[in-house]
Amino acid sequence: MTAPTMPATRILIVEDERIVAMNLHERLVGLGYEPMGPVPSGEAALALAGELRPDLVLMDIHLEGEMDGVDAAWEIRQRFQIPSLFVTAFSEDATLERAKLAEPFGYILKPFEGRELKANIEMALYKHRMEEALRQSQALLQSVTEGTTDAVYVKDPQGRYLMCNSATARFLGKSVAEILGRDDTALFEPEEARQLMAGDRRVLASGAVQTYDEFVTCGGVSYIFLATKGPVRDARGNVIGLFGVSHDITERRRLQQRARQAEKMEAIGHLAGGMAHEFNNILAAMMLSLDLLPRQKLEPAAIEVLDEISGLTQRSATLVRQVLAFSGQSMIRREVLDLAAIATRQGKLLHQLLGERIRFILDATNVSAWVEADKTAMEQVLLNLYLNARDAMKEGGVLRVKLTEIEVSAEVARNHLKVAPGKFICLSVADTGCGMAPETQRRLFEPFFTTKEVGQGTGLGLATVRGLVEQHHGWVEAESRLGQGSTFRVYLPAVAAPSPTPISLPQADLVRGEGTILLVEDEPALLLVCARLLTRSGYQVLTAADGEEALAVWAQHQATINLLFTDMVMPGKLSGLQLVERLRAEKPGLKVVLTSGYNTEIPVLDKAFSTAAIVYLPKPCDPAIMLQVIQKYLQSPPQRIPQ
Ligand code: ADP
Ligand code: MG
Repeated sequence: MTAPTMPATRILIVEDERIVAMNLHERLVGLGYEPMGPVPSGEAALALAGELRPDLVLMDIHLEGEMDGVDAAWEIRQRFQIPSLFVTAFSEDATLERAKLAEPFGYILKPFEGRELKANIEMALYKHRMEEALRQSQALLQSVTEGTTDAVYVKDPQGRYLMCNSATARFLGKSVAEILGRDDTALFEPEEARQLMAGDRRVLASGAVQTYDEFVTCGGVSYIFLATKGPVRDARGNVIGLFGVSHDITERRRLQQRARQAEKMEAIGHLAGGMAHEFNNILAAMMLSLDLLPRQKLEPAAIEVLDEISGLTQRSATLVRQVLAFSGQSMIRREVLDLAAIATRQGKLLHQLLGERIRFILDATNVSAWVEADKTAMEQVLLNLYLNARDAMKEGGVLRVKLTEIEVSAEVARNHLKVAPGKFICLSVADTGCGMAPETQRRLFEPFFTTKEVGQGTGLGLATVRGLVEQHHGWVEAESRLGQGSTFRVYLPAVAAPSPTPISLPQADLVRGEGTILLVEDEPALLLVCARLLTRSGYQVLTAADGEEALAVWAQHQATINLLFTDMVMPGKLSGLQLVERLRAEKPGLKVVLTSGYNTEIPVLDKAFSTAAIVYLPKPCDPAIMLQVIQKYLQSPPQRIPQ
């Protein structure tokens, strides 16, 4: 019986025999239902079901028209999710088989009693409600598991996946079908799989939900997951599996670690900086006091001691300055600077310190490297990097300094403190020295970390570099392998070149030309200026710091080189003239411009000049003249060299 307040259940009758239909109608009314129809064909049933949306269809199997009851019931269920109950006189097997395929909600064989009809109707409605509820809860579950970016899965007690969402599949780089039925040994490295499954067993043994970190490699990428796992139980409370939700916290952990490191450094910086300030004052007072001593009244031995003390205070002051620098408390006066020029100047200084053992190569010809920075700070950064490189190359080697411009994305910038996205100058300082072990690389930038003997290193060099660079809103990176040299990269925000043009090159009346010039010059500053001048005048420029390097460049670019422009006196095995000889042996017509600052060599050269068709330019040379000579020379027919 239907409760008075509930709307009556609406049932559509599909029956081609009018008398039977009327009879059904009456019976339904008698049972408290609200009958609809009747309709005699499958087509009519489909139309009316769509229009009236009954709760149930009583469906005869043999109907008028093309469509029989089985097909009509199937269509109605598919389109409108309305269940059908077959009412038929036919009980032969084939028909019932077909009816079963339509997933009916029951069938009654004619003739039947009222009680039978009611029981079947209620069963069908109940089954349909259950199905709807199941469909609904599946849809809810799916919207959660497929909506989340976390990996969600259920495993059986043996560890085989019973269910997983597409996020799980994405992490594993597999399809859901490839995962189901497998356990972790088929999906992860043996050791990781062992750990994962041990974790699962722990959870199952405890019978409670647990949350812990998991470290796994998926498709070559290392992840840290925060996994929440717990037992899955059936209605009787028996454990039938394990559920897991794994949340990717790789990035968060990395940022946390960086923040912790930064905090540590900041604390050290504060402490050291505070002490350095105090010491600075004391030192300043000591130095003043020393100056105030009446030296002329002192004995020579006492003066000697005083000088010693004075030297020590100077050294202490330097140390204090460095501590202030790495603690990010240096005085900074920003101006627009050409980093290439500073790199060159410091290189030259280093050259004097190093002699010939270390070859200094600067590659900055085609980039303008303007930054807004404190000049002294930049000099200090470069000098520290150069000195470390020198120390790493006890047996000699190559120090290569390179300037490039790069675009820093928001994503990269986020990895560093105080760094905003945009154009950056990357200054890389690469040596061919001893390199560093991973342990050294980890601690590299810590203040007072040194691997050098007492008295050789303070361990403040790189801490200072980092402090200064960060004060300039940039960052430093190191890359190295033991025995294979090291590369340090300093990134600083780029700024536009100031006008008027930085290097005082003559602006007007510069003769332009074209062609490729191999420029060989051991003085880095000169190399840089010449290369820029030639590049700006339309030439392709290849550079080399000495004869040997020139040979290497030649070997690669021989075909394109139209002119050799070389210094006469250079360090290394090859002099300028020897280089000319070597290259002309390979390409007899090669045009050559020789430069030299030593006048004494001109007589020797005179001969070479006349016999071997070499153009000579004295150093220093007026840029306008130099360009004029080169342009004319390149336009002249190939040289024929008298034998
Ligand atoms: P210091 O030079 O006084 O030791 P730094 O802070 O400049 O202090 O460098 C710290 C340590 O880093 C050095 O002792 C050395 O072990 C290592 N290091 C720095 N630069 C290089 C390099 N270019 N090659 C090899 N090791 C280096
Ligand atoms: Mg150092």
